[in-house]
Amino acid sequence: MKNDKQLGTWLTNFKLDHPLVIAGPCSAETEAQVLQIAHQLKNTDATVLRAGIWKPRTRPGNFEGVGALGLKWLQKAKQETGMLTATEVASPNHVDLALQHDIDVLWIGARTTVSPFIVQDIANALKGTDKIVLIKNPVNPDLALWLGAVERFYTADIKKIGVIHRGFSTYEKTRYRNNPEWQIAIDLQNRFPDLPLILDPSHIAGRRDIIFDLCQTALDLNYDGLMIETHHDPDNAWSDAAQQIKPKTLIKFMEDLKIRKQTDHEIDFKNKLNTLRTQIDVIDHQLIEVLGKRMEIADHIGSLKKTKNVAVLQAKRWNEILGKMILQGESKNLSEEFILRVFKAIHQESISHQEKIIRN
Ligand code: PEP
Ligand code: MN
Repeated sequence: MKNDKQLGTWLTNFKLDHPLVIAGPCSAETEAQVLQIAHQLKNTDATVLRAGIWKPRTRPGNFEGVGALGLKWLQKAKQETGMLTATEVASPNHVDLALQHDIDVLWIGARTTVSPFIVQDIANALKGTDKIVLIKNPVNPDLALWLGAVERFYTADIKKIGVIHRGFSTYEKTRYRNNPEWQIAIDLQNRFPDLPLILDPSHIAGRRDIIFDLCQTALDLNYDGLMIETHHDPDNAWSDAAQQIKPKTLIKFMEDLKIRKQTDHEIDFKNKLNTLRTQIDVIDHQLIEVLGKRMEIADHIGSLKKTKNVAVLQAKRWNEILGKMILQGESKNLSEEFILRVFKAIHQESISHQEKIIRN
């Protein structure tokens, strides 16, 4: 797939003066719940009402969605509020039912994007549709797999496409439910600048209190939209209760978020600068995380040396590391002097970590 200028046309046709906002509950629960949330969202920045009808749950036993019945509630919400409707489809059967109920936006969930067979089946079922199709990133951090799914829809003559960044699974527990790995979305944006990129901060965060900051980072990175799980009574939601926010919180977020508009040259320059600076911030954050991990391993080495009464400094090993790093640095255009300085500092920190452990 090449970058295609047409890719973003569906979004510009909305003529919004702010990013696209998709909001609504994780799951449709009852007709009254869907209608109540829709009415609370109707004169806000939210253009599209989302609700999961079929819920892919990692473990069985959790709420698996109300099924096709909920599609009627979405239809009714659309009639009453004029909002567009969106739901997740995970099989050709879901596609048929969603199309019968005039759903406007179909999204492909993270657990579906990982499977080229299912993605292809869904793309075949949607062939040539003029509905909007949004493809969530796969659960594992694999840009090729994500792009592969986008290509399957593009090749099935679906031109109203966008992608949703919802973070990636990690075995290690982090502050996020799904690690953002911003770099992957930034790479995708650099390769396909016209493909609308939407952030789903709810599934990245897994909790309410960091959603706002995630949205601001996305806007600073020039994302085109946000999909935010919104519920009239989040604490009692049947799924993803901890991460949903109230419609009135969403309204406040939209007032407080700094949205960068691209109009004249001056603003364009500042936008570009801001995007690049935010990219640097993301990488700096990763550098600290990686350094922290390296020192944790150094601590383990320290404990091991302590049990065997081995000296902290082992010059041979250190010279080997340095030699390798200088070579790798060269291939990345990093000077020998720089590599030496950085690695001496890292080594020094590592030694003091180990010494602390050996002395205690
Ligand atoms: C959802 O949007 O409710 C959902 C299940 O998302 P994901 O596929 O990102 O886990
Ligand atoms: Mn959810």
